[in-house]
Amino acid sequence: MKKVAIIGAGISGLFIANLFNRNPNYQVSIYEKNSSVALEEGYGVQLSVNSIKILNEIGFEKLQNNEKFNPEKINFYSSKSLKKICELDIANFNSEDCKYTTLKRSTLINFLKKDLREYIKTGYNISKIDQQDKQIKISFENGETIECDYLIISDGVFSKSKSLISKSETKPKYNNTLAIRGILTKSLESIDDKNISLFLGPDFHHVIYPVSPNGDLNFIAIMKYHLSEEDQKNYSLFSDNTFIKKVLHKIPLENKDFLDDLKELKIFPVFISGDFHKLQINNVHLIGDAFFAFPPSFAQGASQSIEGAYELFKSIGNNTESNFFKNRVKKTKMVNIRSKFNQFSFHLSNPLTTFARNILLKRLVKNKKFLESYLGKIYQN
Ligand SMILES: Cc1cc2nc3c(=O)[nH]c(=O)nc-3n(C[C@H](O)[C@H](O)[C@H](O)COP(=O)(O)OP(=O)(O)OC[C@H]3O[C@@H](n4cnc5c(N)ncnc54)[C@H](O)[C@@H]3O)c2cc1C
Repeated sequence: MKKVAIIGAGISGLFIANLFNRNPNYQVSIYEKNSSVALEEGYGVQLSVNSIKILNEIGFEKLQNNEKFNPEKINFYSSKSLKKICELDIANFNSEDCKYTTLKRSTLINFLKKDLREYIKTGYNISKIDQQDKQIKISFENGETIECDYLIISDGVFSKSKSLISKSETKPKYNNTLAIRGILTKSLESIDDKNISLFLGPDFHHVIYPVSPNGDLNFIAIMKYHLSEEDQKNYSLFSDNTFIKKVLHKIPLENKDFLDDLKELKIFPVFISGDFHKLQINNVHLIGDAFFAFPPSFAQGASQSIEGAYELFKSIGNNTESNFFKNRVKKTKMVNIRSKFNQFSFHLSNPLTTFARNILLKRLVKNKKFLESYLGKIYQN
């Protein structure tokens, strides 16, 4: 039986652990640095059909219907005038069993960890990785060491394991944007709260979507914001009330009253990957944000984490691990270009270019060929 060690109990680590756990040829352990698995209680996540199809292989379709939602459209609005620009029918990519899904992150994490309780070890912060022949020896800050046949690194965008194994700092970059997250306690008159509402504004966009059929709405905004190098590292800044007030004041919306109805408001800097890192050791692999973190404007980070984890699991089983990196880079590049382009076009500020963008957008959301290429290529796997 092969021993598999997974570093980090986020979406990617938990998902791949489920796959290994269902196969009697592997013995899996997940090492998480925190004292518990973070549920990110309250906040939402969007999952496109590519990840739903894979999640169904571990029983996601059996999740109670009141715990997830299937929006059918993305409604685009101008955040200045609040006028609707156009709508995109995302249900077009759905099939009977695989539908574009929104849900609470806590629902997804609880689903992913439910069969893994005895294999998740919390309070394990990795400190050293050594390779001896085909065995990998891992040391943790709590003094424990373990040996395994496969090491899967899924410890997020700031991956310490990646730095340890590459023997150099592999730093992500600040995306020059802050994320503002919360739960809307009241629906807004101007929106269709059964679908995804995407408001496009200068240097800012925000998205509101339902996370369950009972009316809970997730709010997420991305705002261009300069932070000095020092401030980027100062995590206490993001819970400082003066800073939070300053950021909220800068939000370029005329009517901000609804922000008072936001629960669990959280502001944090968005970091993204600059490049890919090919590991030189055969039985050590990166997945999820540790492999590559995108700007969040295409809502694909979690879906790609799930897709990448699935591909890696399959390639380990088929002994085709050498193809995993090459294939994942190809898909990741496609997603990254779209994520960057979305952010650029969502944040246009010049009235003329905004006008042109809106006209183009109205056409593109109806253009089957374009949609097949821009979304279909990503949503299919
Ligand atoms: C604002 C925003 C909105 C987003 N919205 C969406 C969306 O709607 N849809 C979507 O698909 N994606 C979305 N994403 C992206 C998505 O959230 C991430 O891509 C995904 O959560 C990555 O999962 P992960 O498991 O790779 O990493 P993480 O969730 O970061 O998990 C890493 C885990 O590793 C642990 N860890 C860290 N260091 C160590 C260590 N040294 N030792 C042991 N354990 C360690 C951490 O504690 C954590 O539990 C969004 C991202 C942002 C920033």
